[in-house]
Parts: sequence; C-alpha cells; structure tokens
Amino acid sequence: MQVTSYPAPSTWPALQQRPAAAEAPQVAARVRAIFEQVREHGDAALLSLAAELDQATLTSLLVTDAEFAAAALQVPTELQAAIRQAKANIETFHRAQREPELRVETMPGVACSRRAVPVQRVGLYVPGGSAPLFSTLLMLGVPARLAGCPEVVVCTPPQADGSVSPVILFVAQLLGIDKVVKAGGAQAVAALALGTASVPAVDKIFGPGNRYVTAAKQLAAAEYGVAIDMPAGPSEVLVIADDSANAAFVAADLLSQAEHGPDSQVVLLSDSATIIEQVQAELDRQLAMLPRRDVAAQALANSQAVLLSDSAEMLAFSNQYAPEHLILATDNAEALAAQVTNAGSVFLGHFTPEAVGDYASGTNHTLPTGGYARQYSGVSLDSFVKKITFQRLSAQGLQALGPVVETMAEAEGLAAHARAVTLRLDALATDSAQNAGAGAVASQAVANPYAGLIRPNVERMQPYSSARDEFEGMAPVMLDANENSLGSVGPDDFSRYPDPHQRAIKADLAQLKGVAPANIFLGNGSDEAIDLLVRLTCTPGQDSIVVCPPTYGMYEVAANLNDVRVERLPLTPDFQLPDNSADVLAASSAKLVFLCSPNNPTGNLLAQEAMETILRTFKGLVIVDEAYADFAMAPSWTTRLAEFPRLVVLQTFSKAWGLAGLRLGVAYAAPDLIAYLNKIKPPYNISAATQLHALAALAAAPDLTGMQAELLSGRALLAAALPQLPIVEHVFPSDANFLLVRFNVDATAVYDDLRARGIVVRNRTTQPGCAGCLRLTVGTADENTQLLQALTEIGAKQPTGSLAIR
Ligand SMILES: *Cc1c(COP(=O)(O)O)cnc(C)c1O
Repeated sequence: MQVTSYPAPSTWPALQQRPAAAEAPQVAARVRAIFEQVREHGDAALLSLAAELDQATLTSLLVTDAEFAAAALQVPTELQAAIRQAKANIETFHRAQREPELRVETMPGVACSRRAVPVQRVGLYVPGGSAPLFSTLLMLGVPARLAGCPEVVVCTPPQADGSVSPVILFVAQLLGIDKVVKAGGAQAVAALALGTASVPAVDKIFGPGNRYVTAAKQLAAAEYGVAIDMPAGPSEVLVIADDSANAAFVAADLLSQAEHGPDSQVVLLSDSATIIEQVQAELDRQLAMLPRRDVAAQALANSQAVLLSDSAEMLAFSNQYAPEHLILATDNAEALAAQVTNAGSVFLGHFTPEAVGDYASGTNHTLPTGGYARQYSGVSLDSFVKKITFQRLSAQGLQALGPVVETMAEAEGLAAHARAVTLRLDALATDSAQNAGAGAVASQAVANPYAGLIRPNVERMQPYSSARDEFEGMAPVMLDANENSLGSVGPDDFSRYPDPHQRAIKADLAQLKGVAPANIFLGNGSDEAIDLLVRLTCTPGQDSIVVCPPTYGMYEVAANLNDVRVERLPLTPDFQLPDNSADVLAASSAKLVFLCSPNNPTGNLLAQEAMETILRTFKGLVIVDEAYADFAMAPSWTTRLAEFPRLVVLQTFSKAWGLAGLRLGVAYAAPDLIAYLNKIKPPYNISAATQLHALAALAAAPDLTGMQAELLSGRALLAAALPQLPIVEHVFPSDANFLLVRFNVDATAVYDDLRARGIVVRNRTTQPGCAGCLRLTVGTADENTQLLQALTEIGAKQPTGSLAIR
C-alpha cells in the first residue's frame, strides 16, 4: 500500500482514483459481434460460443431434471446447512423491505394509491468457471422470489465437461428456480436481451461479471430497452480504523477484498500512524498465507493508506470516495455511521467483517462500485418491482378537482385535456338534476354493506346501558353502580367498574396501528370477538359459517355453541386456499368465513390474491385472523379496512406481545360494524387489571421488536436444524412463532416421548392434511436447544429399519 500522511483536501481526488479500467475498444466490438451472432443463430450461436469460449461441448442448453436431482447429493451437508441459514437471513431482511400499498385521499373524493408490482421477467447472471459464485444466486434469487417475479431465468457458464456447478444448482432448487441456462459471458447477456428458442427475453438483467459481461449489459441497456441492476466495476472496500482497531482484523478485511481481483481496490484511513504501521506489518504476514496471494498483492499495490487528522476528516474523505463497502473499525462506529452520506453497505464495529455481508448477514452484496454509491443503492427488493400509481375520483372528487385541471389545461393551451374534464362535469350536472328524487334513496340501500347480514333481533334490540355509559368520568361522590366505596384493597384500586369503552387503550392502539379508535373493538381474548361475530350475524339453527381446515379450532366451537352450521372449505396440500374458493363462497349463503393468516396450525400466510378475490366477491363477513401477524412481516389487512366494509381483522395480545394471561384481543373493522359489536358485548368485558397492564405494554411497545427478533431467529434456527434430524420428514415453512413438522416415524409416539421428558408440544396428527404432524412452538433459546436435544435422542433410539413407517 502507498502511505500518504495528512494530504491537503485538494490532493484527495488523486488518491481516490479508481484503478484505470483498461477498457479496450475491442471489448465493445467483440460484444457487438456476439450480439449479432446470437441474434442470427439463437441457440446454435450459444452452443458454438460455449465450445469456443468455455471449451464445453453441450448437448442441451438448459439444465435437465436429472442434473438438478444429482446436484444436491454432491453438496456436503455442512455447506447445505450454511446456505440454508444464509438464505433465511437474506429472506428475513428482504421480506421486511416489503411496503404495504400506499393509499392517500389527497382531497375528498380523490383517492390515490401506489402498489409494488414485480418486474415480470428477470434474468440473473451468475459467474461460474473457477469460482462459481453461488452466493450471488442467493443475493439475486431471494429478492426476485420475494418480489413475486413470475419468470426467473438464470444464466451461468458451463464447466469444460458441460456441467454446471452442483452448488449453483442446489441453490436454484432451494429457490424454486427451474430455468438454468448453460451460457456465460456476453452471449448469455445477449440471449437474455434478445431471446432465443431456449432463453426467454427478459425485462431486467442482474448480476456481476467480467469486462465482457459488463459491456454486454451496457449494450443491452443502451440499445435493446432492457434494464440492468446497476453499472458494475471492480470491487472495493474502505476501512476507517482509529487506535481502538485491531490491526490483524483490519488487515484481514483489506485482504478479503484484495483477493477478488488484481483491479480490486482497498483504502485504509486512520488517524493513528501506529495503526497504519501495524496494519502494514499484518498485511505482509497474512498475505504470505493466502492461496490467492499474487492477485491480492497486485491489488494492494494499487491501494492507499491515508493518515488523516481526526474522524471528521476520515468521514469527509470516505464520503467523497463513496466506497462500495465501508468498514468502521472504531469503538464509536454508531456515531460515525450516522454521518455516512455515500456508501453501498456499512460494517460497524470490530466484529463485523465485510465477509458477513458478502454471504449471510441478510443484507445484499450486489452494491454500487466506482463511486456510483453517490447516487445508486445496492440491489434490494425494490430492484425487482415497479411501483405503479393508481387514482380514482368519485363524482364529488371530480366536481372539486375538475375546475383546477380545466384552468391549468387551458393555461397550457391543451384544449383536449380541458375538454376531458368539462364533458364529465356537464354530464354530472345533468344527472343530478334528473335524479334528485327517488334515485338517491335507492343507491343508498344498495350501498349498505351489511344488508341481510346482521341478525334481525340484534337490529331491533336495545343494548344494555351501564352506569358508566350513563355517566363517564368521576364525580366526588359516586353512588350510581352499586360498587363498594369502602372496598379498595391492595396497591391498585379495583373498587370501580372499568371504562366500558376502553378509550385509553383504543387511543394508543389506533396510534400504533394507524387506524381510528372507531375501527377498534376490544374483546376478552380474540376468542370473545370470534364468538360475538358469530352471534351478531347467525340465527341459531338457521345460518352457517365457513372454515378452511386445518385451522384454528375455536371457529367451529363458537359455531357449535351457537347452534350454527359449519361449512368446510379445506385448504390444498400446501395449505393454501383452493383455486375455486371464491366461487364456492360466492355460491354459499354463509354469513361469515374465517381466514387465518398466518394459519394455525400450519404457520403459513394465505396468498393475498386469493383473499382479495374473496373480499371482493363474498357477500358475508370475511374474518381475517392475524393472531400471528407480528411474526410475518407482511402488511396487515388493517390497511385495507376502508376498501372492504365487510372485512374484520383479528389480532391479539396473547402471542407476539407475550401477554396471553391478560385475555385481550382486538377486532378491527369499519366503524358501523364495530358499533354492532359494541352493541352486543358484555358491558365490562375488559377488566380494569387488563386495561392497566395493556396500557403499560402499549407504552413500552418498542420492547416488542427485540422479542420478535429473538423468536424469529429461534424459528430460523429450528427450521434449519429440524430437517437434519433423521426422524423429520418435512418442516413446513412458517410465518408464525411455531413450526408444523411432519415425522417419518409415529408422531404420537414422539409426542409421548417428548412429554415423558418434560417437553409438551401440540399433537396435530388428527387435523385434516396434518397426518404425522406435531406443532412446535418456538421458545427461548434454551427451550429450543432442549427440544432439539430431545428429538435427536428420540431419533437415535429408532431402530434403523423403522424409519418411514408412519
Ligand atoms: C391463539 C389464537 C387465538 C386466540 O387469541 P386470544 O386473544 O388469546 O383469545 C385466535 N386465533 C388464533 C388463530 C390463535 O392461534
């Protein structure tokens, strides 16, 4: 490394030069020729270029089922487990990047919204050859899958024997990607941009590559209307190390970047001359031990160590350089991180090597290089979606906004624009003149979303009027409710009836969830809300509800208790709503359907589109039970209440909040529906003790995230470890705080054995679709370890011949 001490800021740009890209014009010419060849000869060109450039004779361009099947066997189990953990972390971080649909009423009757829609066809380039970068496939494939891109094509160069690295195929399988093309270099990019018989043309191309791949992506973007992830260049790291840094760690980080290629760049900034000296010594020592030392040494020769006066100056230098990776090897990394304005990804503190971000922390490793961190972000979920905006005006909305648009259009001299508004305003004026009478009443009747849904006796009845309804608040002398004014005992005064409207909790919850207090009903557990919803809508002995088994048992119990018939709409084998569910429901006269998402006991979210179709077409109430929503990181259906008047969302303090003992559940719905629930609820259904504790919990809401994160990591750990046990056949993917696990031995015997060891789980073997299954709640780290240990011992007891005798 070249060391420079206290350079004047005017000389910084020279020190910040990236190694000059020796961009030969012949690269561009060669790439253009390859595009021509692929355009003219399609697959045949790909085959002959594979022979010419990869020395590979291919019989088929696409990886076959047999090749996929063989791949997993060739990947060591330790590597498989590592890949699964990395995938889980990348998924967790990228799933959290999902944004709920944005809905704003900019003025009355003018509704605007924005929704993320996946890029429909994406191509992922995964470098192969000597170092197959399967981590790149994880980094691109995971967000592509989470975004919901319908078509994902992977291109990767074949090895000389015509095969593709088994690890790449293993990862593709994990991600459910079945189209892997054996093509590398500029020809792969050309095929993705132009399309051939085997390779579909795509809308956007992602992935790193050599000079030819980079030039090909640029050509595809410039001339073929294909988007690319970002401009690519050699990888780079900048380390800020003060005297709290560990020189050996810093040197290792610099080398991990330098070994990428001779054109990689590493920069060390320090305000301590001693650290720079120590790092240099460490570099010499560690370099000698590296297999790729020649490459790393060349990269180091191009690299800079700069001694600066203080952390402010180091940050200024770094922000001006805009590194792809920035490591803050200091004790006060958080404070420095707050001042970073240009960087791709930042690594804080002494225990965060860049390598964790390259593979497995969860952040994406596809990042802007060459100073592009000034204006580009790294790849994220956003890279795989477009955000489409929508607007809808009511008649009123157009009447309010129309004149504004007319004025502006006329001022710009765009008469047709103005006319598009004027015509409609004129039509509205005529309509309202004609329909001033009976029409308005009729349209109101159609608009009542609860017509025929509320039991007639509930419509007719007078609700109970409690003392606290008739007098809210406190007077000096309260003699209205037959309470005992002498009765206060203990630290809290429970001598008075509690607020029947639970106003304080509703105010806090409304704020937290972004709804109005009038959207909230509080129940003695969500179980009470379930019971009241059945009673509100179903006449005993006459009406019915729909449940989707396997699911939460209380729906059926509430129906039976009220002498209400239960219709069943079973979930598919992968526990989703069947394709015909909306039709079945539309034809049913049931008063309500319960959709549990994430579902208990299966753990999965139900597909959003299927639920939306039901919400649009079913005439009864749609109860979405989100008891486990806090673990799922999918947007809550509470954001859609304004759109669906018959939607009821159930949540509870019993699960993520860790307050099952309080018995507090929440129903969110349109205010009119909430008013019906309030009409029939027992007057004081939420005790004063519960209200007190709930308010304390709401005030401490930030604590929740730590607990959730711990449970999610416990879930990830169990989900990775359980499949390794020989007695486990399948662990169903879960968005909740439990896992449904299918055993390949007698699950009830496993349940009994666990119980004898003092570990109680839930036996779900008799639930529809759950043969051989136990439901395991994620516990503390210690409880999870005990569970795994016990299952390992139980597995070891099985005679080897007895496996798979369920
Ligand atoms: C646990 C659970 C409930 C119960 O919630 P409470 O508020 O404790 O009554 C409701 N729905 C589902 C799906 C559950 O698993």
